[in-house]
Amino acid sequence: MICMRNTEEEFKKKLTPEEYHILRERGTEPGFSGKYTNHKARGVYYCKACGNKLFESDTKFDAKSGWPSFFEVVHNAVELKPDNRFNEERTEVVCAKCGSHLGHLFDDGPEPTGKRYCINSLALDFKEH
Ligand SMILES: [Zn+2]
Repeated sequence: MICMRNTEEEFKKKLTPEEYHILRERGTEPGFSGKYTNHKARGVYYCKACGNKLFESDTKFDAKSGWPSFFEVVHNAVELKPDNRFNEERTEVVCAKCGSHLGHLFDDGPEPTGKRYCINSLALDFKEH
């Protein structure tokens, strides 16, 4: 079997228009609109576009920002890119497997990492343990 990256057409078929906008057009969902913002169940969060394992529920914390926030990411699950849109210097978080946009990384998170991965609910798929 040949392993190929999904084409944009395949992403369009697989994702809702809202999910496609976040993941493939680097969109941001409105704060406090996402279904995982205050989600506290134990389990694992996966990339909505490709199923890559991204975050464990025990690294999720309430940043009161309006988006699901995590202080740690699964090893090698994401790539970080500079994002200078909107006259802001931010760090973009993308899925290491499919390149989809997930959210942004900030340095004001809690111990032990001090990191805050600010992620769109629409970019995530959750499965309970
Ligand atoms: Zn992915």
